[in-house]
Amino acid sequence: MNNAEIIKLIESSNSRLFKENIILEQMKLQNNILFSGLSLAYNKLLTFGVKQLPISDNDGTGINWLEFKELCDQLIKRKLTGHAARDRIIELKDKSGKDEWNFFYKRILQKDMRCGLSEKTINNVAKKNNFENYIIPVFSCQLAQDCELHKKKLSGRKILEVKLDGVRAITVVYPNGKIDIFSRNGKELNNFDHLKNEINRLLDINLVSKPIIFDGEIVSEDFQSLMKQIHRKNSLQNKDAKLFIFDFLPLEDFKNGIYKKTFEDRKNLLKKFYEKLFSESKLIRLMDSLSVDLDTENGKDEFKKFNSESIINGYEGIMIKDPSSFYECKRSTTWLKSKPFIEVSLEVKDYEEGTGRNQGKLGAIIAEGTDNNKYFKTNVGSGFSDIQRENFWIKRDELIGQIIEIRADSVSKAQDGKYWSLRFPRFKTFRGFEKKEKL
Ligand code: AMP
Repeated sequence: MNNAEIIKLIESSNSRLFKENIILEQMKLQNNILFSGLSLAYNKLLTFGVKQLPISDNDGTGINWLEFKELCDQLIKRKLTGHAARDRIIELKDKSGKDEWNFFYKRILQKDMRCGLSEKTINNVAKKNNFENYIIPVFSCQLAQDCELHKKKLSGRKILEVKLDGVRAITVVYPNGKIDIFSRNGKELNNFDHLKNEINRLLDINLVSKPIIFDGEIVSEDFQSLMKQIHRKNSLQNKDAKLFIFDFLPLEDFKNGIYKKTFEDRKNLLKKFYEKLFSESKLIRLMDSLSVDLDTENGKDEFKKFNSESIINGYEGIMIKDPSSFYECKRSTTWLKSKPFIEVSLEVKDYEEGTGRNQGKLGAIIAEGTDNNKYFKTNVGSGFSDIQRENFWIKRDELIGQIIEIRADSVSKAQDGKYWSLRFPRFKTFRGFEKKEKL
């Protein structure tokens, strides 16, 4: 069975066990060419820089693996690009057997074997059966834990950053000027050439003696269009997207899964690097951060302020990072994500009776006013206990003019665009004892 036939066979069934058995059989047969091919296809960090690949419709005399491997190496190193790359690919396609090309070589270059096999399945079989040499490197980056589940970790020194609402972007910069951008799962992001060009334009190759990674988030004015962009197959470019960088490490350490330099040190290095290269850039930005000590009252106050300002400014939350931690390519508590709430104080303008089980009781408060320089108008219908609904309804006329403290997930612009509104507003308390008094 040749490699094209093996791929066809794996593709022929949906059963994972069936696929695993074929993989194991080939490992036992030491089919090194098949596994070199799979490694080139599944190792996310190896990119070929080619988008469209020709289909073969007639048999050539056949190519050998070394010829193909040489092509891959040249593409990976970008020694072959553009027309030269396309011509060499067509040359090999014409020489190759039809199925050999369409089912094996072409699929390797498109980094999609289309046979329902993942690198995890291959690695499981390899590990279970002691074929470690066939293990394929799996792409992974540092991920965060939810702060709510790790409240105890909120102590000591922390570095705070806003949580941007975009797409994670792991940008690899090679000394030869090649730049690849990946999502958190290693999907290559091909639609941001303007960011690559900007990095290339400003990069001083002398400062990059080995491949390095900028870890960051790509954000766009319009998140929906950014998401569409990511999933678009063609290379239509999203030109308004910016890259915010928040971390920095050598590619070699990323591949090993850990970089043993503290976040504080990495940040300082990144800052120096950034200032030398990108400080003028509007597209490549450095993520701002604030250092706090949560063991002090002052630090706790700063933390609270950072939280509420982030929400007021429209961010979805904050990231809380341990300055003494190493970069680890896994989910860990050294990065905590927090989606905190916001609290605003507004004036009660009106009230509404409840419906259903709340009939004859308070339904909602209609409030408006200025908080944090924004004029809000909102209805608050939740957060009241049954007793509060009853009592407030009895004294409903006294409510008008009171200051109500409202908790919400975030701020949003109301549909008419004039006023600010709140996402998931809920009653916290009435503030002050005198009408209109704002404590
Ligand atoms: P989540 O996707 O909810 O697990 O949150 C983690 C994600 O937040 C990361 O993978 C990034 O895409 C994104 N993110 C936004 N801002 C930051 C930041 N300052 N530091 C780290 N990750 C961030």
